[in-house]
Amino acid sequence: MARRDTVRLPGLVDAHVHLRTPGGEHKEDVRSGTAAALAGGFTSVLAMPNTNPPLVTQSAFHAAQDHAERHALCDVHHFAGASSDHVAELPGLAREAIGLKVYMDQTYGPLRIGGLATLLTCFRTWPVGKPIAVHGEGANVAVAIGLAAAHRRAVHICHVSRQSEIELIARAKAAGIAVTCEVTPHHLFLTQADAERLGPLGDMRPRLATQDDVDALWSHIHTTIDCIATDHAPHTLFEKQESTPPPGVPGLETSLPLMLTAVSEGRLSTDRLIELMHTTPRAIYGLPPQPDTWVEVDIGHTRTIEDSGLQTKCGWSPFSGWVVRGTVRRVQLRGCTVYREGEFPGVGSVV
Ligand SMILES: [Zn+2]
Repeated sequence: MARRDTVRLPGLVDAHVHLRTPGGEHKEDVRSGTAAALAGGFTSVLAMPNTNPPLVTQSAFHAAQDHAERHALCDVHHFAGASSDHVAELPGLAREAIGLKVYMDQTYGPLRIGGLATLLTCFRTWPVGKPIAVHGEGANVAVAIGLAAAHRRAVHICHVSRQSEIELIARAKAAGIAVTCEVTPHHLFLTQADAERLGPLGDMRPRLATQDDVDALWSHIHTTIDCIATDHAPHTLFEKQESTPPPGVPGLETSLPLMLTAVSEGRLSTDRLIELMHTTPRAIYGLPPQPDTWVEVDIGHTRTIEDSGLQTKCGWSPFSGWVVRGTVRRVQLRGCTVYREGEFPGVGSVV
């Protein structure tokens, strides 16, 4: 128990979430994923397209959107996925998707673009006013930045995890290239040593890195890094214990308390946290306003993260056992209380 010290934050945005719907509803569904979002202080989530089927056609996209409209507890915006076999769908998808997700490296699911020809088509076809978000690791960060520069358009680099990557992005920004980036809490708070301790529960893409990489990310927290995004990627404990466990860890309910703990340690200010988790992601993706929306957080409350208290269907966290500061007490969305002390009294609508 600790002193009660309540602040109001604006509704937070998580620009990188896997709701596993359609096709992976045993890991997470729209209801459980958006419940986890609200419990973590997020009133908007941007859902990734590597579902089954993937969101690479207008029909699959519409089905996912319609489903989310009926079941989501907070606002859900969907990415379209880039696929070599479906580039003809891009103009249609561009009208409705919040952005295009391009997978340049292997991760969970079949979406991956290997060839430069398809990458060029994506960067040429996708409207300049809509973000392209790239999963590119190592030298592929340079490829993504080069494509953006050549097409005089913006690109967003997902889950930056390495010193070389964040330093390249800093140089590209200084050179006037329209690149933005996100980092995840797991890459800010965990290292390869944690990956060894956690085994499959510490395995995700990009993989956890060295302490030097973590230190480099923190040294760019006030400058190069544009947003914190969780890359919430739930899998069941059973799947994680199989012989070839899928990569990915959940993050929606631990992101804000971890970042508030960093605030309490003086590593960043509350104002900077709001920029990273609300203002800048809203601006990058041009999200519509959410009037009369706020998150009431008890920032004095110290607690231990426990698997049993989570809303995510997967029911575990790589941060289980960590002592953190900050508990979301209540969430108001467009004038309605949608979360209060573990309960969900209202239902949000999807934009
Ligand atoms: Zn992801």
